[in-house]
Amino acid sequence: MSKTIIAGPCSAESREQLQQVAAELRKMPQVTMIRAGVWKPRTRPGAFEGLGEPALGWMRDISAETGMPFCCEVARPEHVELCLQYGLQCVWLGARTTTNPFMVEEICAALRGSGMQVLVKNPVCPDVRLWLGAIERLHNAGIESITAVHRGFSMYNTGGYRNAPLWEIALELRRELPDVPILCDPSHMGGSRSLVEPIALAAQQLDYDGLMVEVHPDPDAAMTDSNQQLTPAELVTLLDAYRDRPTPSADTLSNRLTPLRQQIDDIDHSMLSLLAQRMALSRQIAGIKREMNTPVYQSGRWADVMADRLRIAAELGLDADFTKEMLEKIHGESVRVQLDS
Ligand code: PEP
Ligand code: MN
Repeated sequence: MSKTIIAGPCSAESREQLQQVAAELRKMPQVTMIRAGVWKPRTRPGAFEGLGEPALGWMRDISAETGMPFCCEVARPEHVELCLQYGLQCVWLGARTTTNPFMVEEICAALRGSGMQVLVKNPVCPDVRLWLGAIERLHNAGIESITAVHRGFSMYNTGGYRNAPLWEIALELRRELPDVPILCDPSHMGGSRSLVEPIALAAQQLDYDGLMVEVHPDPDAAMTDSNQQLTPAELVTLLDAYRDRPTPSADTLSNRLTPLRQQIDDIDHSMLSLLAQRMALSRQIAGIKREMNTPVYQSGRWADVMADRLRIAAELGLDADFTKEMLEKIHGESVRVQLDS
């Protein structure tokens, strides 16, 4: 299946900038729509907040000249009304908006009956329910064309990304809403030019339906997000790496995957049985601690366990953060089982 590619500047900055970018993007057959922010959500006051209505006029004119449709972010009902007035057929809800059900509800009311296509960025916080909720609200407002956009999540530790991907959250959205296409926004996820391509290729491996990428004729001079925007030439290189690959037949694939999947099934079954044995031992220990009047939780013992397991995990090549998180989950359950027994 061919992929959807939406590209364009973070912000609309002038008629000339939009004309330049549209002239380049229309040469790339994969690019089906141009993005450009007209109202920019800024974390701190005083930064460039977008050009508003005049930019919508440029979009309308350039769209008529080039045949390329445009889309922009809406965060208020008034934005939706202006977009409709200027003939835009697609808008997106930004990450900050998806986070707020009141705002989503107001925008839905403005969109009702408009026939707009709506893209929904994930919420800034890693909560799939807000993302699902925004999509459900749009659906309830009669919006038929809805696409999710995964742009990553704000966290203290983003592991080198501007916004942590947490791919599992997007995969959960896809499990819940298998008919909603999902695009990856590697620009806001990466936050730097060099991360855009590796993230886009990871999304391709996960079978995303396409990309929304920031592209600017002169990224270094961009008024917003200058570190992460690609030049049109860089987008050509990215799209070359991202092109559709021939997929193998279902049989060939299953011949190679089935034996490995069977081993994974066996390992999962063994892990569950070992976890049940571990919890049974916790219950026995709880009995002894109760008899001996000893508290359930002993911090010294837990610190020793963690240090020992992290050492072994390192020898086995397992990721330290993953190991720590998994052990904390198991330990939490073990404490719960001891308190309950
Ligand atoms: C944007 O697309 O320029 C933007 C502000 O996105 P997000 O809502 O993902 O931060
Ligand atoms: Mn941006």
